Amino acid sequence: MYEGAIQDLIDELGRLPGVGPKSAQRIAFHILSADPADVTRLATALRRVKDLVRFCTVCFNVAETEQCRICRDPRRGDDVLCVVEEPKDVVAIERTGEFRGRYHVLGGAINPLEGIGPDNLRIRELMLRLGSGEIKELILATDPNTEGEATATYLALMVKPMGIAVSRLASGLPVGGDLEYADEITLGRAFEGRRSV
Ligand SMILES: [Zn+2]
Repeated sequence: MYEGAIQDLIDELGRLPGVGPKSAQRIAFHILSADPADVTRLATALRRVKDLVRFCTVCFNVAETEQCRICRDPRRGDDVLCVVEEPKDVVAIERTGEFRGRYHVLGGAINPLEGIGPDNLRIRELMLRLGSGEIKELILATDPNTEGEATATYLALMVKPMGIAVSRLASGLPVGGDLEYADEITLGRAFEGRRSV
């Protein structure tokens, strides 16, 4: 173990998701030897993300204004709504360039083992949006794993009686995306979607 500031940095980095003790140490020493201007930019970016970023009041995507860039875009269709779990899923679907409607970010998926039920997600807000009558089709783009499937099934049961068309994204390679990135998604989903046999 090291003393003082360098150990504090290693400890903080080690608390980040996906960063093990060895990576934390490697990143800390990289920062120590980096150009001071680069480190200042990193520190500023960290502070700004907490100061400036909030959730869109309409779709709950990340935003720097009351509404996110997608909700503010007048060229997008208001009749199709795509439901995703997290803001990063919005980015993944946007990368395909296949969707021109609006989004709704649930903030997770139904997961009874972790105590996450429908009330913990932004499902009430979704129902309010659907109640406006403007939305004709709902695309359920939750993850193709147990929690995502459970969430999609739950939403389909709730929404179908409202006379709104409900569809589910097929899993597999997103067409038209960056191959390297798409491959990462596919791999990630293959891991997430694995089941005990
Ligand atoms: Zn939005």
